[in-house]
Amino acid sequence: MRVVRTVADLRSAVQEARQAAATEGAEEASAGLVPTMGALHDGHLTLARTARTENDVVVMSIFVNPTQFNEAADLAAYPRDEERDLALAAAAGVDLVFAPDAEEMYPRGHATSVRVDGPLAEVLEGASRGRGHFDGVATVVTKLLLASGADRAYFGAKDAQQARVVQRVVADLNIPTQIRVVPTVRDPDGLALSSRNVHLTDEQRQAALAIPRALQTIVAAVKAGGRDVARLEQVGRDVLADSDVETEYLAVVDSLTLEPLTTLSGPALAAVAGRVGTTRLIDNVTFEALSPNDSGGH
Ligand code: AMP
Repeated sequence: MRVVRTVADLRSAVQEARQAAATEGAEEASAGLVPTMGALHDGHLTLARTARTENDVVVMSIFVNPTQFNEAADLAAYPRDEERDLALAAAAGVDLVFAPDAEEMYPRGHATSVRVDGPLAEVLEGASRGRGHFDGVATVVTKLLLASGADRAYFGAKDAQQARVVQRVVADLNIPTQIRVVPTVRDPDGLALSSRNVHLTDEQRQAALAIPRALQTIVAAVKAGGRDVARLEQVGRDVLADSDVETEYLAVVDSLTLEPLTTLSGPALAAVAGRVGTTRLIDNVTFEALSPNDSGGH
């Protein structure tokens, strides 16, 4: 596995790796990109392993992108351990790691950003963290896609809104990269893996389990025939209110547009953000309300 730190080196390394893969038999060697902020866990590694099965060349970026952080303390506390990350990436089958510093990504005079308008970027995380968050995400992902020239890029369903924003960006800017969304990886107790989980004490971790529990309670209510979205949201909020999670939002929205719903009809997404102590966690689940005719009589 090779590690490069500049965009110029990334371009030439991807090209070399594609050529090497092509001479090994593939007609046109494909490249997959897994963008991460490091502090790798099995969620990131699942993206990498998925990329490995679908591409000749697997590139992982490791960059803690300052422009998507809305709190200086969150950025300062973000866990970083490059040596460990590189060992894990290599074991997951990554060929090439792009680990630039902030100067490389945002050199002096950098003045261009990608801005996603409309409710997609303004609701949920956009409302909670401020619209600059998704501008930061859209800009850095655009730069990473263009610098790597990847055919496919891999994102986690855990950051559902981020994945939808990225899909919007590649469609709108005609970036020829296919966006693949990989299901959320959870610990056996149900907590979604997150780089921020390392900040949780044992007690806080127990409290955090109210987040997946709230989501599962909503899914159970839907399975039992619940269709009124305000009721479903209340059922979830009640679970969180019973815990030490300080809820930022809990919403059941259209799974594609993320727009508010009153009655469940098609595919929906229940999304939560909350704090346990100073650690901010997000999670979500998607589900579909079956019509009364196929609901199995509930
Ligand atoms: P991050 O390093 O937190 O920016 O995450 C990098 C990528 O990994 C994003 O596409 C995330 O959605 C994805 N990811 C983070 N946690 C998980 C998880 N538990 N399961 C699947 N993907 C994840």
